[in-house]
Amino acid sequence: MANSVKCKNCGEWNSIEGSTKQKCANCGEIIQDPTKERLDKIKKYKEEQLDKWMFTIKEQDNALVKFAKKTGNITYIVIMSIVGFFAWLAAVLPL
Ligand SMILES: [Zn+2]
Repeated sequence: MANSVKCKNCGEWNSIEGSTKQKCANCGEIIQDPTKERLDKIKKYKEEQLDKWMFTIKEQDNALVKFAKKTGNITYIVIMSIVGFFAWLAAVLPL
């Protein structure tokens, strides 16, 4: 599907196809597809959230920290499953 995107530099309208970066037909400025821009923002936001998450394993972590984080992650998932199960149980049980 082709999209019409206005060039930020010269204001010329360009049709964009696909998600690849294209250059303005008029001035050669790189045209940003708004859809792609939005997806990039979402991706960046997700990465930021992941960075804030205490159990996210980073490259610079040593083996012990990596192990502790993996254990923490698994523990978290197990606890959330149990909590989820009880929440479901409370919802289905006739009170
Ligand atoms: Zn242009």
